[in-house]
Amino acid sequence: MRMTKKWVLPLAGFSMTLAACQAHESAPVVANAAPPAPAATVSAAPQAAPTPPTLRLGDAIRPTGYEAALTVVPTEDRFDGHIAIAVDVRAASDVVWLNAAGLDVRSATVNGAPAKVLPGGADFIGIQPAAPLAAGKATLILDYSGEISRKNSSGLFRNKEGDQWYAFTQFEPLDARRVFPCFDEPAFKVPWKLRLKVKRDQVALSNTPVVSENIDGDYKIVQFAETKPLPSYLVALGVGPFDVVDAGTAGKNHTPVRIIVPHGRSAEARFAKETSPQVLNELEAYFGIPYPYEKLDCLDVPLLRGAMENPGLITFAQRLILSPPDRETTAFRHAYVSVAAHEFAHQWFGDLVTTAWWDDIWLNEAFATWTERTILTKWKPEWHEDVSAVVRTNDAMRTDNLVSARRIRQPIVAKDDVRGAFDGITYQKGAAVIGMFENWVGPEVFRTGVRRYLTQYAYGNATADQFLNAVFQGAQAPAVAAFGTFLNQSGIPLLTAGLHCDAGKEPKVALSQERYLPLGSEGSADEKWQIPVCVRYPGKKGLAISCSLLTEARGEVSLPEAAACPAWVDANADGHGYYRVLYEGDGLKKLLGAGMKDLTAPEKVALLGDISALVHNGKISYADALATAAKVARETPDSPGKSDNKSAGVVAATIELVASLRDTPMFADALRGNYARFIRDTYGARAHKLGFAARAGEEDDTRLLRPRLLTLVADEGEDRALQAEAKKRALQWMADRKGTDADLVETVLSIAARAGDRALFDRMAKAERTAASRQERNQILRALGQFRDPDAVGAAMQLTLSDELDARESLPLISDALGTPATRAIAYDFVKQHYDALAAHGTRDGSPYLNRMTGAADLAKVGAAFCDEEHRADLESFFRDKSPHYTGGPRILAQVLESVKLCSAYRTAQTPNVTAFLQKK
Ligand SMILES: [Zn+2]
Repeated sequence: MRMTKKWVLPLAGFSMTLAACQAHESAPVVANAAPPAPAATVSAAPQAAPTPPTLRLGDAIRPTGYEAALTVVPTEDRFDGHIAIAVDVRAASDVVWLNAAGLDVRSATVNGAPAKVLPGGADFIGIQPAAPLAAGKATLILDYSGEISRKNSSGLFRNKEGDQWYAFTQFEPLDARRVFPCFDEPAFKVPWKLRLKVKRDQVALSNTPVVSENIDGDYKIVQFAETKPLPSYLVALGVGPFDVVDAGTAGKNHTPVRIIVPHGRSAEARFAKETSPQVLNELEAYFGIPYPYEKLDCLDVPLLRGAMENPGLITFAQRLILSPPDRETTAFRHAYVSVAAHEFAHQWFGDLVTTAWWDDIWLNEAFATWTERTILTKWKPEWHEDVSAVVRTNDAMRTDNLVSARRIRQPIVAKDDVRGAFDGITYQKGAAVIGMFENWVGPEVFRTGVRRYLTQYAYGNATADQFLNAVFQGAQAPAVAAFGTFLNQSGIPLLTAGLHCDAGKEPKVALSQERYLPLGSEGSADEKWQIPVCVRYPGKKGLAISCSLLTEARGEVSLPEAAACPAWVDANADGHGYYRVLYEGDGLKKLLGAGMKDLTAPEKVALLGDISALVHNGKISYADALATAAKVARETPDSPGKSDNKSAGVVAATIELVASLRDTPMFADALRGNYARFIRDTYGARAHKLGFAARAGEEDDTRLLRPRLLTLVADEGEDRALQAEAKKRALQWMADRKGTDADLVETVLSIAARAGDRALFDRMAKAERTAASRQERNQILRALGQFRDPDAVGAAMQLTLSDELDARESLPLISDALGTPATRAIAYDFVKQHYDALAAHGTRDGSPYLNRMTGAADLAKVGAAFCDEEHRADLESFFRDKSPHYTGGPRILAQVLESVKLCSAYRTAQTPNVTAFLQKK
């Protein structure tokens, strides 16, 4: 809409026009300049120079509203800004400290009078009025400029798509301060009025709808509606020649849903357009509260790493949201709906009710992660989210066994801790614990509690305690303390479970708990939890479940439905528990024997996770685990066409157990052929039967299993026929993109690469340079990272230094090469040799959670896969002085060093029995 009304900032007490933004002339203050030196302690000095905060701003002065105007031209490296901040001064103050990073502040006023701008280090500036501010209301106005980054995907940044530039923002957790001088903490939740000056032919987007557009020469001034109360980290912008795809409306309030794409790419939004309104409907039904904002735009950000829940303007990495319709893969469809469910769930959990401080970011993230599976279980039952949930719990436990692991609710004492909080513990362990307690109190009771919580704290902030007390009330109140034992301490409980059938008494399962510790760990086993334990067993009228809350070191679960002594018991019914189980006596044997036909798929996957954990702590030999995995895989029938067939998930879990041998060099090269034979004997027939061509009407589970199975048998099983077929198909694909099943493009390219030579590498590298789209380029780049031929690996490493590729797309080549023992040393040496260039080339966006090396912060991870003391020492000496220079570095390095140490102990303990096992194959 176009309005001719003169736009002003109607904040109480002043009005201004954009032209005024550029009209100030005092010397700029660069926000990341050094903090002021302490004033000399001469008695004549009236007072010491004000000292900036170290982490938090305090709440003596709180914002009550922002009005900001930015000029954003995506082809330029700088933007101009003007901001008016209304504040409530609770205690008289000399200086107002604000967060600001990398901003050049030209001028500042307080209540209309000029004020001094004090440098405050990397994250703060101080605004000092001529006279101290009295308690009451005040208005700060700042004019400034800042960077539009080409290299990072945080703050305000720009990506090129086709031959045009687009500007985007990503603020969570600490980067709103790169665009607005502001109170950059989640508890400062206030309305924002934003205005953008952009080129007149471009589209400007923010959290709220446009209320007016005014042409101003080559530019236009776009005013957005005032937002609901938002913390700074949720404000978002987009500017560029976008195309807008109308996806209709959804929800009780008929919220308009749109997919926003780069110019000319509307067709690729097909799947997002079809599914997004439905995701919103499903969430509204769960929360019982209408979608809380005016619009829902889903914006493609080509080089974003994941997605971000900005209210009304959710951003997605391109690989998550766009695909040419004829190249949509099963994995793409699952990922979009899962990520959309996660980000849309945040509109309630995180946006409507926001964490009070970063130590409770799990409230946002664990809950959104848990919601994905809840929504999908109901809406897409054929996707078997119950099985995937256990797979993710198993993954979380692999991090949680480290002494250096975070707690779900980890105190935040430094800036590092804020970024570190976005890890697998927060997301996956948090979601698993929520799922365990939801199961414990019952889904309906839990949902009622969630609705109560959201209603009580709507448009405000809340803490973990407020969440738990709102959700678990009345008879469920004991869950508050029990939940806290998982929230506030790291680690995994190990339950020992023994079936006891004493004459004349009800059968029972005796339980004891200790902390699970892998071989080589120096952790203490003393921790105690309050654990909801549910046991499945054969009873009088079929299978039964009995539950009990284990609050002490020892306890029991009685089995009232048992007719006699049950043939088996499973101490983690449906795999809901966040714990590992060690069975006394022949408990495991019975479960793997008589129990197998009755266990659910999630129970089998949890059991395989237990076995893997027990191998790592030395209670089970790896040889026995391999034999068990092979047995379970063989005994899991394919039942194609049956909608309740979950066999693919179980087979995938056995692959996990068997393939981990590949990543840890645990046998001599001379046994390589025996290992390959074991893989072929176990999985070869299944892989050949599935083949490279999907069948009509095939289930998604099977489609997702195929790439894993083919990769395992072709690579580790050294199956020459599959390798040859993959190579043939890879060459076909490079000649004509249409020939290959979309689900298998990356699989055939990667299998071909692993068996390929330098000539094939060069051919693929050439295809990469002429790729028609980002999707295609990334498919080829992933394959380039899979070569094992040393000459090809060297060439792949060189690509990471090339200016022709964006570092966000090329740096994962290093983590690819590190993933395989055969190429690990080459990649490690390369990183050491080119460390400075790589660190400079990388971005500041590195995040441990995403586990893909795309930033300097991830460089220390190069060593995580090593398994010997020599490399541990080398890693320590190389990274010790470097890790403190990047955010989260010290914890990442500690986790890497601990992982290598544990792996080394594990390898030493298990190598003899693995060797004996393979010698017989
Ligand atoms: Zn999230």
